[in-house]
Amino acid sequence: MNDWPSRTEVLVIGGGPGGYAAAFRAADLGHQVTLVSDEVRLGGVCLLRGCIPSKALLDAAELLRLGDRARRRGIDLGEPRVDLERLRSWKNEIVEQLVGGLEGITHGAVVGLSQRKRQGQRQGQGGQQGAGAPDEGKMAHGEGLR
Ligand SMILES: Cc1cc2nc3c(=O)[nH]c(=O)nc-3n(C[C@H](O)[C@H](O)[C@H](O)COP(=O)(O)OP(=O)(O)OC[C@H]3O[C@@H](n4cnc5c(N)ncnc54)[C@H](O)[C@@H]3O)c2cc1C
Repeated sequence: MNDWPSRTEVLVIGGGPGGYAAAFRAADLGHQVTLVSDEVRLGGVCLLRGCIPSKALLDAAELLRLGDRARRRGIDLGEPRVDLERLRSWKNEIVEQLVGGLEGITHGAVVGLSQRKRQGQRQGQGGQQGAGAPDEGKMAHGEGLR
């Protein structure tokens, strides 16, 4: 809380790819930057709910297709069974890895994230909880993210 600046040179609103890229670039250029987002994690739609989770699941679906292709060539891998819990946690691990990496490289920008999870976000549905259910408030006001 003490680290939270009362003034800033550049204020970026939103922790998605648009926001964090702008904030990190401005910080790289030597500006004093503060980024605020109303989610508990950085990454926005792309990392938390969109591009990354969807591509991870598409990649998993491709494995089913490979099994089909193999069968047509005489290689029978057996009937596939999908463990949705395991699939979901694998997808969440990927999201967590990328979001965690992003939060570790803020280029000196001060980052303030919401302490509250959004209504309607439930465990395993992507978003912050799906990305590994961090402690609420862990990173609020830039703590640990400077
Ligand atoms: C299923 C899906 C798959 C996708 N796949 C791809 C893909 O493969 N490739 C690709 O290029 N794009 C893809 N996209 C699109 C991509 O997610 C968006 O283009 C990208 O997230 C936009 O980034 P952004 O920073 O502009 O906005 P967002 O990612 O929406 O981030 C905005 C952030 O700002 C926060 N915010 C908003 N208003 C405020 C406020 N007033 N105060 C504080 N914080 C605020 C939001 O909560 C959010 O965290 C996909 C999208 C979806 C839904």
